[in-house]
Amino acid sequence: MFEFLQSATLSFIPKKVVLVSLILFGFRLVLLTALEKRDPAHFVPYRKVLPKDILAMLVFAFGVVPTAEFIDRWIMHPPTLPHWVLEWPLTIRIALYLVLADLGHYWVHRLLHTRHLWRAHKWHHSPTYMYWLAGVRGSVVQMTLANLPYIAAGALLEFSPWWIFWAILLKNTFENDFMHLNTWWGNRWLEWIIVTPRYHHIHHSDNPEHYNNNLAVLFPIWDHLFGTYIDPEKVGRNLVFGIGESVPAVRLVIGL
Ligand SMILES: [Zn+2]
Ligand SMILES: [Zn+2]
Repeated sequence: MFEFLQSATLSFIPKKVVLVSLILFGFRLVLLTALEKRDPAHFVPYRKVLPKDILAMLVFAFGVVPTAEFIDRWIMHPPTLPHWVLEWPLTIRIALYLVLADLGHYWVHRLLHTRHLWRAHKWHHSPTYMYWLAGVRGSVVQMTLANLPYIAAGALLEFSPWWIFWAILLKNTFENDFMHLNTWWGNRWLEWIIVTPRYHHIHHSDNPEHYNNNLAVLFPIWDHLFGTYIDPEKVGRNLVFGIGESVPAVRLVIGL
């Protein structure tokens, strides 16, 4: 009975996602833009780039995300975990989910920066500016691959309360907004715990010395462990972003 109620609730939730996402977008637009204007790391021509990025967001949300999810359903089914694992306290399962999914995402991201898969990641790196909405791009190939660790680790969250769905949606949205935020916030202490805006800005830098570094998405520990860490304290904020080439939009979006 309990399981039935949960699945009924979960199947009802996605219909509300568009409405909630719209309201959330309004808040992000007002609050995050105001926050960035207080102490911007770089000049950003907001009026010029916002329409472009809203279009990219719509293509991502209504084109890339469903397509990647469709392909993922073909290539991977979430593993079924033994009951004794699913009986662990929810906080432990959430913590494990975050750590394992983020570790997987680090390695997918690292693969995307290799010669063979770089084309799948160019769209994300194509903006020549950095602010909260600049990171909204992810190609079909990128998202298909990046979803896999979340699907695998998601098995830990089976039989979780309904709000887990919303919590993950919010976490993913704010994580992406925060890491691209147009500010040079951060300090070494914090950067042992979470990826800060300046930490991720270095990842987008077009300086060859910065290529393929600071790849972590949420936990910087992976960069420390696997040798891809650049200390933001040793890098100036005058960074240049972009991929330095022009690629047809359709190829960027598909990632081929
Ligand atoms: Zn990257
Ligand atoms: Zn990024």
